Amino acid sequence: MPASPPQVAPADMKLEVGMAAMDSSEDELDRIGKRSTFTCPECRGTLWEMNEEGALRFRGLVSHAYTVETVVAEQSRRLEDALWVDVERRVVSRAETGRERADERRAVRERMDATIEYSA
Ligand SMILES: [Zn+2]
Repeated sequence: MPASPPQVAPADMKLEVGMAAMDSSEDELDRIGKRSTFTCPECRGTLWEMNEEGALRFRGLVSHAYTVETVVAEQSRRLEDALWVDVERRVVSRAETGRERADERRAVRERMDATIEYSA
């Protein structure tokens, strides 16, 4: 079997591999990737898009790295969490409003009862 020629990694890939073990600067990440609109699931920092030979990946400042699937799944989970928090807030708010209205009705009824007793 003939020996295969040594594989030479592209410069940007070398830089990215080097970054996996350490934190990197925004300038470094800007040079090899594109700032995305996604935030890191772990630290909420900016994620940079890294296009590695057709494979899209995301990387943050503190060596957090994700595949597209992970980022999408995490964003979906956070959206769902936010929606549930909103639903819960609305239900609680409605319950409080209902309780306040019941208190008002009770107060009005008591005043009416008092008025009726007083005038009787
Ligand atoms: Zn992070």
